[in-house]
Amino acid sequence: MSDCIFCKIVAGEIPCRKVYEDGELLAFHDINPVAPVHFMIIPKAHIASLADTGEEHATLLGRMLVLAPLLAREQGLADGFRTIINTGRGGGQEVFHLHIHIIGGGGPRPM
Ligand code: AMP
Ligand code: ZN
Repeated sequence: MSDCIFCKIVAGEIPCRKVYEDGELLAFHDINPVAPVHFMIIPKAHIASLADTGEEHATLLGRMLVLAPLLAREQGLADGFRTIINTGRGGGQEVFHLHIHIIGGGGPRPM
């Protein structure tokens, strides 16, 4: 996906503040944080959204979720954190490359 900003980050064409990387996942800080700690976990392979996943992605999705608390703890969120996956235009998704937001450090959520 040549026009996908997160694919460009994966390819190293756009810089990021990296939190974690392995063969199939990348995590980096959000450029526009909504809390003291705000990073995202993405698959390196281009998947547009959660609505574009199927049974074949079950292991990958599981790895993304299992990684979340490990990285959250490393980033100082031992007390807890929020996970958000915006899906599709109706779900407020702006970047159409699957990502999990990990957000915390700002006290209880204002909702
Ligand atoms: P979403 O609305 O779930 O699609 O969120 C996309 C997120 O990507 C937003 O929180 C943006 O601030 C973030 N974002 C966009 N471009 C970049 C970038 N180059 N580096 C880091 N985060 C980005
Ligand atoms: Zn992409």
